[in-house]
Amino acid sequence: MNLMRPSTRKKRDLVIETALSLFMHKGYESVSVDDIIAATHTSKGTFYHYFKSKEDIVAEVGDRQRAIIEQWSKRSPTHVQSLESHINRLFLDLASNLSTYPRLIRSFNALCLQNDKLNRKQRDLSDYLLYALQRWLPNRHKAELLISVYNGIVLKWCLNEDGDGDLEQSIRTEFSMLWAGLRTNEPAGPLSVTPKQKEDPPMKVAVIGGGLAGLTAAAYLSEEPGIEGVLFERSPQLGGRAFTYEKAGFTLNYGAHAVYGIDRHKLTTLEKELGLSFSSKQVDKRKVMYEKHDQVTPAPLDFVNLMKTELLSTMQKVRFVGEITAIMANIHQIKNYRTLGDFLADSNADEDVKELWEHLVCSNFFITPEDARRVPGTVIADYYHNLFLSSRPVNYVLGSWAVITNQLKEKIEMSGQWEIALQEGIEGIRYEDRKFVLKSKSRELSFDRVVFAMPVQQVIKLLKGTAWEPFLAPYEGNTATEVMVYDVGLSRVVARPFSYISDMNNKLFISDVSATDYTLVPEGGQLLQGIAYLHDDFANEEQRKQYLEQRTGQMEQLFDRHYPGWKDAIAVKRVSKKAMVASVKNIASNSLLPNRLENVPFYFCGDGCTGKGELAERAFSSARNVAKHILKEAPQPAFV
Ligand SMILES: Cc1cc2nc3c(=O)[nH]c(=O)nc-3n(C[C@H](O)[C@H](O)[C@H](O)COP(=O)(O)OP(=O)(O)OC[C@H]3O[C@@H](n4cnc5c(N)ncnc54)[C@H](O)[C@@H]3O)c2cc1C
Repeated sequence: MNLMRPSTRKKRDLVIETALSLFMHKGYESVSVDDIIAATHTSKGTFYHYFKSKEDIVAEVGDRQRAIIEQWSKRSPTHVQSLESHINRLFLDLASNLSTYPRLIRSFNALCLQNDKLNRKQRDLSDYLLYALQRWLPNRHKAELLISVYNGIVLKWCLNEDGDGDLEQSIRTEFSMLWAGLRTNEPAGPLSVTPKQKEDPPMKVAVIGGGLAGLTAAAYLSEEPGIEGVLFERSPQLGGRAFTYEKAGFTLNYGAHAVYGIDRHKLTTLEKELGLSFSSKQVDKRKVMYEKHDQVTPAPLDFVNLMKTELLSTMQKVRFVGEITAIMANIHQIKNYRTLGDFLADSNADEDVKELWEHLVCSNFFITPEDARRVPGTVIADYYHNLFLSSRPVNYVLGSWAVITNQLKEKIEMSGQWEIALQEGIEGIRYEDRKFVLKSKSRELSFDRVVFAMPVQQVIKLLKGTAWEPFLAPYEGNTATEVMVYDVGLSRVVARPFSYISDMNNKLFISDVSATDYTLVPEGGQLLQGIAYLHDDFANEEQRKQYLEQRTGQMEQLFDRHYPGWKDAIAVKRVSKKAMVASVKNIASNSLLPNRLENVPFYFCGDGCTGKGELAERAFSSARNVAKHILKEAPQPAFV
C-alpha cells in the first residue's frame, strides 16, 4: 500500500499536511499553490511533480482509502477465514491508513464540511464502502451500522487534540462489542426509551373545602404534573373544624387533635407518602380517668388500667379481658351483630361490663352513650381490633393540627400548579361543554373533576336543584355528632390530677390538653378543653336553650370539682354551644357517603364519607382514596 520510497512519501506528506493546515486557517479558496510552496520550502517543480492542483492534495486522502477498499474487495474468498475477521480487516486497514496522518485527517474532516466538492467526494467514498461491504454482508442495516460506528470512532479520535489515541485499538474494542450485538439472532424490537411527557392539556381539578380532607386531597394531587387545580375555601382560613388560632399566648384548636392508635393511623401513611414531618406525644394512660357516681378510677385503656379500674369486679375484668382478646384476634361475635346494642342485648355480661362498652365507644367515637349502642357491630370490631393492637392508643400531634395543615398548604402552593382560593365559597355547579362550571361570588371556572371535601349536609345543600340531587337523597337524613366545647386557657396550672376525666353520670369530659401538648400554652399556663355531648330533639327553641344552659352548668361543676380556682385563673375562654364533631355519626341509621356515587360524576371525602377510622382519620383516609382515584385518571405520559 505504501507505494513510494519513505523519503519521497515524507516529502509528499509534508506538502499535503502543510497545505491542509493552510486551507483550514485561511480558507481553501484563499490559499494558492505558491503559498503552499513557500510554506513547504519546496520548488514549483517539486510541487507539480506530486500534484496537478491543490484539489489533488485533499483528494489524495480519499483516494488512498478507496484504494484500500478496492484491494480488500479483490481478495479471494479462499483467503477469507470468517466473515467477521474479513470485515474487521477492512476497517483496521482503513484506520491504519488514517492513523499515519493524525493532523492531516483532522484537517481533512473539517475541510470536507466547508467544501462542496470534497464533501461530495467523501460521500462517494462512503457509498463505495457500503457497496463493497454488502458483497459480503448483504444485510444493508448491518453494513450501515458498521460504517456508522467506524465513522464515530474516527471522529472521536480526530477530536482528541493530542492525536495520541490509538485508532486501531479503538476499532478492535468497539467492533468486538458491535459484533456481539450483530451476532444475536433476536429480532430487533422497538426501541425502549424513557417516556417523555406528551404535552396533553392538564387535567383541571376543583377541591371544594379547605379542611383536613380538602387539604389532603389537594396535597396528593399537587404531586402530579398533569393536574392543575383550585382549592376553594369559603372562610378566611384553612383547617375547617381542625382550624387552630392563637389568643393571648394560647393555641386553641377548634376540633381537638387527639389521634387514636397513631402507629396504625392513616396519618402515619400520609406522613410517609407526603413527606410530612411532625411529632406527637402520648397521653399518659395512667391519668385517663372515668368518674362514676363519686368514684374516680382509671379508664380501661389497656390491661394495666383494666386491672386497676374499680368500675369492674375481678370477674367482670376477666370477662372484659376476654372480650378485648377476642377483638384483637378478630374472632369477637360483635362483628356479626347489626349494632353494639343488639350485641349487648344478647350478651349475658353484667350491666357494668355493658356500660363500660358503651362508654368506651362513646369516648372514641365522640357520640352520646345512647348513640354508642347504635354503632354497627362490624364498625366496632374493626375499630377496636386496630386500637387494641396499637401500642400508642391516644396521642396528641405536638403543636396541634396546624402543624399538619401548614405543611399540606405549603406542599400545595409549592407545586406551582394549584391556587388556594380563600373566602371563595362555591355557590353553584353546572355541567356545560363537557366541563363542570363552578360558580363563586366573583367568578366562574371550568373543571374536569370536582372533589367535595365538606360535610355531607353542605354537599346536599350545594347540589339542591341540580340533576344530581335525587342520588343524594339516601344521605339527606344523616345526623351529626354535636357537642358543646368549653375551652379555658389558665394563667397557671391550677391542678393536674389527670390528663382526661370523663363524667360518666353527665356524659361530659375535660381534657388537660397542655398536660400532653405543652407547646400550646405560655410558660406555666394550662389549657383545659371541656366537651359535653348534646342531643337535639327539642320541642321548641326555649327547651333547647334551657338544655344548653343545664349542660353549661354541669360542665362548670366538673371544672369546679377537679380544677378548683380555675375561674380566677382564666386568661382565655371560648365556649361553642353547638359544634359539629363528626359530620355523620357512624351509627346504623346513617349511611356514610361513598367516595364515588353511581350516576353522580363527583368525588366525596371528609369525615362523613367512607374511609378508615373515625373523625379526622376518616377525613384523611377518604381524601387519600379520592386523590388516588383521580391520579389514576390523570393524563399518562405517552411515548413520543
Ligand atoms: C370539638 C371537636 C373536637 C374534635 N376532636 C377530635 C379529635 O380529638 N380527634 C380527631 O381525630 N378528630 C376530632 N374532631 C373531628 C375533626 O376535627 C374532623 O373530623 C375533621 O376536622 C373534619 O375535616 P373535614 O375536612 O372532613 O371537614 P371540615 O373541617 O368541616 O372542612 C370542610 C371545609 O369546607 C368548607 N366549605 C364548606 N362549604 C363550602 C363551600 N360551598 N365552598 C367552599 N368551602 C366550603 C368549610 O368552610 C370547611 O373549612 C373534633 C372536632 C370537633 C368539632
